Amino acid sequence: LIARPVFRFAPSPNGDLHLGHALSALTGYEMARAIGGRFLLRIEDIDVTRTREAHVEAIFRDLAWLGLEWETPVLRQSARFDDYRAAASRLEADGILYPCFANRSQINAVVANAPNPRDPDGAPLYPARLRSAAALDAAARRARGEPFALRIDMARAIDAASDKLGGQPLTFTEIGADGRHETRHVRPQRWGDAVIVRKEIPASYHLAVVVDDAFQGVTHVTRGQDLLAATDIHRLLQVLLGLPEPVYHHHALILGEDGQKLSKSAGDTGFAALREAGVTAADVRARLALRIPSAPPRD
Ligand code: GLU
Repeated sequence: LIARPVFRFAPSPNGDLHLGHALSALTGYEMARAIGGRFLLRIEDIDVTRTREAHVEAIFRDLAWLGLEWETPVLRQSARFDDYRAAASRLEADGILYPCFANRSQINAVVANAPNPRDPDGAPLYPARLRSAAALDAAARRARGEPFALRIDMARAIDAASDKLGGQPLTFTEIGADGRHETRHVRPQRWGDAVIVRKEIPASYHLAVVVDDAFQGVTHVTRGQDLLAATDIHRLLQVLLGLPEPVYHHHALILGEDGQKLSKSAGDTGFAALREAGVTAADVRARLALRIPSAPPRD
């Protein structure tokens, strides 16, 4: 028996879906259909303060309108905190994570005074000098119950991953728009000591996504190119946690009239506005069809 490939669409319910989400969802769905794969929907609601049940309902309604079908029950990340805690504990026990008490304004204050590299999302990398200063009283602050995030010690993490890979480089397989498989090398160091566990939430996007992709047996991660750089950290965490490696397809983004990435408040391209304007699901599919890899390979 050959296991069927598993695809997923994993929206965060903190706003309305727009054409960009339709493309992500359809890409995974159509690629799954082309190779007889399964298609899952996962609600990425770790940020419980930003999640609205109305948005979750709207996701189901909009995707059904688009003609998609997905397996039930739908996994919600808010029900998965114990597994994220367990994964973080393992990384911490391996000396890969360390506590960070700083908030954004403290980090910004430090980087304002000196040149500081930025991560692919444009946020300043966590400054080494903040880390060494904080290390002095970290244990005492932790004992006092002060809230802290857990950051990855990127240098140690890369060393540890390299050991696990027997010195082989850390890579992933990207399925191109033409369906061809291509090996890509990752550079997780450009993210610096990224947050892996947030202060108020027992995970970050990065940790939750790799733990759940493995938990759900996802073999094909399809998502927008805005998440391409995050694959560096995802592959690193997968190796450190001993999780299986999916293949990836990062589709081109649909840009708004202003050339910017569509946002959750992008009125005109939101599903509600499209429906109101008389756009049909078939219209949306037709508009997006050309972007789906033509012939996903069967391996
Ligand atoms: N939840 C993420 C988002 O809505 C996507 C996660 C992923 O596909 O890896 O941007």
